[in-house]
Parts: sequence; structure tokens; C-alpha cells
Amino acid sequence: LTPADFRKYGTEMVNFIADYLENVHNRRVVPSIEPGYLRELIPATAPTKAEPFDRVMKDFETYVMPGVTHWQHPRFHAYFPAGNSFPSILANMLGDALGCQGFSWAACPAITELEMIVLDWLGRMINLPKEFLPFTENGRGGGVIQSSASECNFVALLAARFEIMKQLRQRFPFVEEGLLMSKLIAYCSKEAHSSVEKAAMIGMVKLRILETDSKFRLRGDTLHAAITEDRHLGLIPFYVSTTLGTTSVCSFDVLSEIGPVCTENDLWLHVDAAYAGCAFICPEFRGIMNGIEHAMSFNTNPNKWMLVNFDCSTMWVKDRFKLTQALVVDPLYLQHSWADKAIDYRHWGIPLSRRFRSLKLWFVIRMYGVEGLQAYIREHVRLAKKFESLLRADDKFEIVGDVILGLVCFRLRASDEANQLLLTKLNSTGRIHMVPASLSDRFVIRFCVCHEHANDRDILIAYEIIKQVAMIILHEQIT
Ligand code: PLP
Repeated sequence: LTPADFRKYGTEMVNFIADYLENVHNRRVVPSIEPGYLRELIPATAPTKAEPFDRVMKDFETYVMPGVTHWQHPRFHAYFPAGNSFPSILANMLGDALGCQGFSWAACPAITELEMIVLDWLGRMINLPKEFLPFTENGRGGGVIQSSASECNFVALLAARFEIMKQLRQRFPFVEEGLLMSKLIAYCSKEAHSSVEKAAMIGMVKLRILETDSKFRLRGDTLHAAITEDRHLGLIPFYVSTTLGTTSVCSFDVLSEIGPVCTENDLWLHVDAAYAGCAFICPEFRGIMNGIEHAMSFNTNPNKWMLVNFDCSTMWVKDRFKLTQALVVDPLYLQHSWADKAIDYRHWGIPLSRRFRSLKLWFVIRMYGVEGLQAYIREHVRLAKKFESLLRADDKFEIVGDVILGLVCFRLRASDEANQLLLTKLNSTGRIHMVPASLSDRFVIRFCVCHEHANDRDILIAYEIIKQVAMIILHEQIT
């Protein structure tokens, strides 16, 4: 394509995107197709000759679009929000056009420098303790953008493992390293995200999954008892992964109790706030974070609840050298003369190459302003509470867990089978999309407020759709 072609097709593409997002409500939320549908429609081999843009776009609408789940549909209430906004899309275009890689400061200084600045901005916006934000205070901590919360959970565990192994090698210089590793034990609650279990699996450490209280929260005494018991068994507790805003029910581990237990026992405390962390932009939700001063690392995903497109998972550590010591490998071809003064983000994570991801965070924060982002979060919380009150006023339904942010877990006052049927039927209508969770071994339906401009009408429509299908199921059960 020539620059002139790009201008033409670029304009068409922007128009296509604007039309799509403006009219997505007219489509089914989830596709009605079966696995393998696309194989029958698209040639098995790549084209030998170049094809025109128009034909590719036509095939996209005809063949690909019918298989798309519309995450930006106002009736999409599954999982957590997939961050999206025009400022973020525009910033992504710009980053893609620059086509730079930012693995080291020298590879593209602006990528590193802007990332450091916006991570300090965001860290301040959510009121992280100042030890996490030293890029402007000459401290030891700092923030980085990873591609997913799963990756944050993994590198936090690797950093903690490296640190404890360093200490153990000094204490027991003649004990074989494999034996020391086999004694390590990490902790999380049964509501922690599956990526914590995966991190322990790849990191080859034992993970003890602890019970929660009646509000699905990990408590300090449960952790303390487990640590004591494991020490008696000769194990070495070293790491606790807590969750603020669990995936199933958006519950919050009690950091104010867990934090002191970690500090007393010298354990690395990680806080995974993938969804909920963005809510701390609003001062009224920050009480949930009490105890955060005990944490060594923290992550939240602006690509979930801060209108930033995937991928943008922000992570802060109190001591960046404890993170990088676990991940540094330094071949000559990546070295540069500014290494003593500069941050090289390749040492903060697993991939080498990194895109200009801070651009979209910078655009979004600037173009919404802190107040705009606060208003967005508050509106979602208000709407979740509205949905909760509609269900509470209807004796067909019960609410499971507390509604604190934008997620409501509910079920029909009926068997698990009836609830499963309700969800299957709702999703198959194509009018709404939700996913389930299991809480206290019961099947619940998760309803998350996701759309950027969700409003009261959307909540009423969702409730009406759910109520109608629920009545059919209850009626069928009686007759
Ligand atoms: N942690 C929590 C608490 C989550 O809710 C999720 C996903 O919803 C994850 C981690 C995984 O996120 P990602 O897809 O960014 O790896």
C-alpha cells in the first residue's frame, strides 16, 4: 500500500470501527455457530497473489464476524470488562505505526520513559504506598506493564522464590538446591485465580490452597495456622498470593490481617487486584486495601476496568532489584552504555520484545482525566447495586456474596440444574451473555457491568430478559 492508499483505507477502517461500536447492540451477543465453522468458509491455503483491501474486509464481515463474541455489546455481562475506548484505540494505532520495540532503554528510550512516568501516575491515582513509586523518588521500587495478570502472578512468585533460595543457599551451603526447593510452600485462597495455581506449577513449588470465610475472603488466622502447621512438617513457607476482587465473586482477602502475618514470618506478600485495583482510583473504595503496606508486589489490569485495550497489566514492586535478580540474562547484543542509569524492562518480565503499551494508558488517563475515570467506575458500581436491588426485590432469586464493585452473583432459588439450565437458555437466546461460577459448591451466575456507557435502561433490559427466561424454567419445573 502507498501512503495515499493507507489514508483511504485508514479512513474507511475508522468509519467501520465507529459504525461497529455504535451499532453493536443490534447484533447477537454470542455467535450461533459450531466449532470448525470457519474452516468451511476460508480457503485451506494462503493466497499466492495479493488481494485488495475491499475483498478482505468483505470476507471479514461475511465469514469472520459471524464467529465474533461481542465483548463491547451492552448486553455482554460475562467475565470482567474487556477495556476499550476511542482514546485507547487511537493510541494503539499510533504505537503500531511507530513499530518500535522497548526491551531496553536504548532500544527506544521513549517507551521506557513514558512507561515509568505513567506507572508512577497510576500508582499515585490508586494510592499505592510510596515505596512502590520511586521512579520519581529515587527509591528501590517501581512499576511495569506486563501483558497479563497471569504473568504478574508468575513473575511475583519467581521473584519470591529467587529471594528465599538466595537466603537458604547462604544458611545451608552444603544442602543440595533441589532439596531446598522441594521444601518451599506458597499459599493462596480457594478463590484465587487459576493463574496462581499455574504459576506454582511452572515455578515448581508446592501451593497450599486455603479455605475462606463465609464472605469468600482469606483471613489472617487461617494463614497463620497453615504456616505453623507446615513449619512443623519441615516445610518452608515463602509466598502468599492474595486477591482483591476474586474472579468468581469479587471478594477481598483481608489484607489488614494477612499483611502482619506475612511480615512476622518474612513471607513475600503479593496482591492480585486484576479487576478491582482500578476501583482504588476512587478514595471511597480504598479501605479494602488496608494492609497493602505489607505487600511486596501488586498488580491490576487497566485492560479490564480502566478503558484501556488489552494488553495492559500493570504491576508494581517495592524492591525492583528483587524482581530483576530473578530474571536477568545479559548477552552482549542487548547491552548498552546507559545500563547503570536507565531502566531496562527486559529484566522485569519474561518476553524480550515489548510494544509501546504505555501510550494507550497515557492517552486514556489524559483524555478522561482522573475525574472521568472515577465517574466511570462509580457508575458501574451504582448500576451493579441497582441490578442487585432488582433481584433482591424478586423472590425468585437470591444474591450470593456481597456486591461491592461491579459484579453481582445470583441464582434462582432452585436446584443447581435449574440454574444451569437458566444460564444455558439465556446465552442461547443471543440477547445476553453471562458465565457461571461455583461458590460454596453451588452454581451461581455472574453478572458484571461491562459496557463503557452502561445505563439504567441496560440494567432493566437485562433484568427483564433474565426474569422472562427464569419464569419459563420455573413453570416447566412445576408442570
Ligand atoms: N487474577 C484475577 C483476580 C482475575 O480475575 C483474572 C482474570 O479475570 C486474572 C488474574 C487473569 O487475568 P489475565 O487474563 O490478565 O491473565
